Amino acid sequence: MQIEDIKGIGPKATSLLHKLNIYETSDLLTYFPFRYNVLKKSDLNSAKQDENIVIDGRVKSIPRLYFYGRRMDKMTFQIESDSLLINVVIYNRGFLKSNFVLNDYVTLIGKYDLKHNLLVANDIRFYKLPEKPLIEPVYHLTYGLSNKSFQKYINSVIFLDIALTDYIPKELASKYHFVSKDMAIKVIHQPNDEKTLKQAILRLKYEEFFLFMLKMQYLKNQKEKDDGIARNISRDNIDSLAKTLPFTLTLDQLKCITEILNDLNSPKRMNRLLQGDVGSGKTIVAFFATYFNYLSGYQTAFMAPTEILALQHYENLKQIFKNYDIKIACLTGKMKAQEKKAILENLKTGQIDVLVGTHTLFQKQVEYKNLGLVITDEQHRFGVNQRTTLKGKGKAPDMLAMSATPIPRTYALTIYGDMDISNIKTLPSGRKKITTILKSESDIKDVLAMMLEQLKAHHQIYVIAPLIEESDKTNQEDVMKLTEKMQKAFGKFYKVGTLHGKLSSSEKDKIMTSFKNNEIQILISTTVIEVGIDVKNATMMVIFDSYRFGLSTIHQLRGRVGRNDLDSYCILISNRETERLKILTEYQDGFTISEKDFELRGSGDLFGLEQSGEMIFKLANIKKDYQILVKAKEDCEEFLKLDGATEYLEAIKFKEIMQKIADLD
Ligand code: ADP
Ligand code: MG
Repeated sequence: MQIEDIKGIGPKATSLLHKLNIYETSDLLTYFPFRYNVLKKSDLNSAKQDENIVIDGRVKSIPRLYFYGRRMDKMTFQIESDSLLINVVIYNRGFLKSNFVLNDYVTLIGKYDLKHNLLVANDIRFYKLPEKPLIEPVYHLTYGLSNKSFQKYINSVIFLDIALTDYIPKELASKYHFVSKDMAIKVIHQPNDEKTLKQAILRLKYEEFFLFMLKMQYLKNQKEKDDGIARNISRDNIDSLAKTLPFTLTLDQLKCITEILNDLNSPKRMNRLLQGDVGSGKTIVAFFATYFNYLSGYQTAFMAPTEILALQHYENLKQIFKNYDIKIACLTGKMKAQEKKAILENLKTGQIDVLVGTHTLFQKQVEYKNLGLVITDEQHRFGVNQRTTLKGKGKAPDMLAMSATPIPRTYALTIYGDMDISNIKTLPSGRKKITTILKSESDIKDVLAMMLEQLKAHHQIYVIAPLIEESDKTNQEDVMKLTEKMQKAFGKFYKVGTLHGKLSSSEKDKIMTSFKNNEIQILISTTVIEVGIDVKNATMMVIFDSYRFGLSTIHQLRGRVGRNDLDSYCILISNRETERLKILTEYQDGFTISEKDFELRGSGDLFGLEQSGEMIFKLANIKKDYQILVKAKEDCEEFLKLDGATEYLEAIKFKEIMQKIADLD
């Protein structure tokens, strides 16, 4: 039923409710309060100075009204509460004066000035408080729509027979003694006591998570049903390639490589996320996957979020496979038309085994002969939507995604619920802690001194310019200004290079190469440097205006240094948000940092998450309600194995729900 068909909801109310995306009565009923006022009489005997209190009592003097300033007023009177006389002040509600009738009961909420026995009331009710605490729902509303009217609208639909689908299977509802959905909805809008309210909220949150997990589980099952390529790669190949590396693989790397090998050999399609902190060595794991895929005669698409990173992977691939007959090419956006044409041709005829590039790898004109594996580096940068479109390309290529953004377990479980996860938990041995130092802008001299020390030791430095909107002109100007400064300070003896978004890829490439070869000692850059770049001799990173960055981003940035056994430093320059930035001086591992950021700022800076509409729960909070989430996940998996599951899915019209999601993509 539409809300305008409800008695008591007129055209004006309807248009206000539409603003809140409330169209149907079911929308209205599932528009939940974001908090509750608990009106419970305060004990004045124990009240402290300036405490917020709730009292009721009889009006004992006729209010006096004063006007002052422009359109401001002040009303004063006395009430008697528990045989105590209390002075009351109310600001700017002069229009209520005539409502205060001598000896009538009122309830007042506000700050109590004990010294002067004065209550500054900011919330007034013209009734006596009930014996037990009164619980009032508070909604996020829009201008022109009061909480009181909203409660009235809710009240006019709550007793109608609006059958909302109950997504909790009977078995589970009885296991947890959940009340019915209708009951829970009634209680959440019109609670009688805190205990039943809590139960109702718990039940509704559980339901949200359960349905979410059902969707995830479904997507996962769908993918597992997808036929993949069954390969027959021997484990011996791990050893033979490992032998050629300049380092020994860590146990975690070996474990991940084995997991991938098993996936590739299985007839099911691989859909795996390789997760590991910055510098944990994910790239080489992906190279093994590339190698296995090559051995079984298929092409690999290796996708990076930026051209610089793509070029780096390209160089590294060529280096690692220099003694192999693997044909590797790199496709970049700014490539000459003719070069590009040649690559596309060779790709189509199978003359190329591995193609590296940015998202250009998946443009329409890019045709593969037999794509067998898609690798996405820094997965989180591509957003959730792109994740789906990629999968449409080719027959049924296996998918390997890498993410350095340490995702709190909570998120991993939800956004990547449809993927298998491999974790690299330990960094290669010999890595040193990156000493992180917080400095204010006025300390710039100290910073320059520290920089000089590194330069004298023949080390290199990254300088990160303040982040302003991407592709913003001012951004470039800032980088240029900073370059000038650095030039002035060090230009005499050291070479300063600048990297920014406006450069062509060959220019960028040239600068990066010079930096790698230590022909440039100070590299100034915007955050294009953020991902993946690997220059071992760089030992210091200086980040200007660091408050502009999320903690995880900075953690990734500083992961550019500390790539060998030299002492490394990260200097954060900021005059703001120093408390938040201090976390980085205290913690080294990305996982803890992202959890802390998550605690401080809600979602932290986990890229791409906002894009996933599914992340939005009306009531539940992934972080706070994590325990419920885990239960719902376990229950969901168990439940789907039961005989009754099919019947249940039909009853809740699950197919239609999933169809709607698919249509959104
Ligand atoms: P990330 O996981 O951040 O992508 P990379 O794959 O770029 O990290 O690896 C970081 C650096 O560590 C690279 O220089 C790489 O060659 C090196 N590396 C990778 N694995 C090992 C290992 N087992 N022992 C020593 N160094 C390693
Ligand atoms: Mg990387």
